[in-house]
Amino acid sequence: MPVLVMKFGGTSVANLDRIKRAAKRVGVEVAKGYDVIVIVSAMSGKTNELVGWVNETSPLYDAREYDAIVSSGENVTAGLMALTLQEMDVPARSWQGWQVPVKTTSAHSAARIEEILSDNIMAKFAAGDRVAVVAGFQGVSPEGRTTTLGRGGSDTTAVAFAAAFEAERCDIYTDVDGVYTTDPRITDKARKLDKIAFEEMLELASLGAKVLQTRSVELAMRYKVKLRVLSSFEEQSDTAGTLVCAEEEIMESNVVSGIAYSRDEAKMTLVSVADRPGIAAAIFGPLSDAGVNVDMIIQNIAEDGRTDMTFSCPTDQVKRAEKAMEDAKASGEINYHDLIADTDVAKISAVGIGMRSQSGVAAKMFKTLSDEGVNIKVIATSEIKISVLVDRKYMELAVQALHDAFELEKAA
Ligand code: ASP
Ligand code: MG
Repeated sequence: MPVLVMKFGGTSVANLDRIKRAAKRVGVEVAKGYDVIVIVSAMSGKTNELVGWVNETSPLYDAREYDAIVSSGENVTAGLMALTLQEMDVPARSWQGWQVPVKTTSAHSAARIEEILSDNIMAKFAAGDRVAVVAGFQGVSPEGRTTTLGRGGSDTTAVAFAAAFEAERCDIYTDVDGVYTTDPRITDKARKLDKIAFEEMLELASLGAKVLQTRSVELAMRYKVKLRVLSSFEEQSDTAGTLVCAEEEIMESNVVSGIAYSRDEAKMTLVSVADRPGIAAAIFGPLSDAGVNVDMIIQNIAEDGRTDMTFSCPTDQVKRAEKAMEDAKASGEINYHDLIADTDVAKISAVGIGMRSQSGVAAKMFKTLSDEGVNIKVIATSEIKISVLVDRKYMELAVQALHDAFELEKAA
């Protein structure tokens, strides 16, 4: 029988009523003839509570015990979902990561899935089970201990199961009804997309459109898993939500598919560094060693052999970046007059695979911002993305203006 993966996020299993509603949806797919693998998150708020308990008990906690504790939320919802299905006369069984097993690395709290063995679940399907309810977000290390995959990891569990079981599709049930051209809270012209390409979703996911964990999209792209994002609160239909799929499956698309933003970006400027071969390596090497995720970089024109170097990184990494630079200065690897951190900025990005074949997108973006009197502080581009840093107070205005300029309220 064909296999379908259905993943329910925290809000979709937040209480017993919602679990019942989710179970009914599973029942509909079972009735169509699918063997279903259900991946569940913990009830919404549960993982935060568990993480809080860990921190309160032991600030410098042992990561193995962190995983033992925070993985437990998913065990509860997996068992409850299996029981609910059984009450509906659907043969179902719950599975924890080690029981499947979902084999991961031993990087506790940030483990990666290495392999999912399908034999045990397949044997149960062959013996009459119609649903395997799997606790998302967890696996087992080579040492035999429970691991977790990082926050939001049950999306990745779902896609990995869809790949391992060659599922027809991976449906991600959540509290939004799909992927939008931008955040509907910023403009009511935001439009739900019927389809979006993996690469676009990857850019949007990493830019802060928090619908899917970035790694799950990477995995879906690699294994060509058809992903659908849809709401568990609306009526079910085969075309609901947004399909995240290969570029070839999208016939028509706008040049720009979406406008993403991130509030948590900071601009750092090293004032007056020596302009010599190796200087960039001497700056960005230590930053990378310190775990700072540098996104945009600009090096200004040099004068008298000295230049300013500007880069952006997430706001919560500013302290770490400063320390890395101070250490590099103290050890003589680099020299600079000043390090200025501007944390009052936001990053706005226009994303679209159509940019590969159409020119003028950057020009239109800059013109639009200039017409609104918004000053651009840093620019970065890739093949399918243009990002700018602007003062945070202009963030909403910039998103709205760009959404209008690229006419995203209209379908292609
Ligand atoms: N419950 C975990 C979290 O809140 C995993 C997930 O829901 O994806 O991060
Ligand atoms: Mg999530």
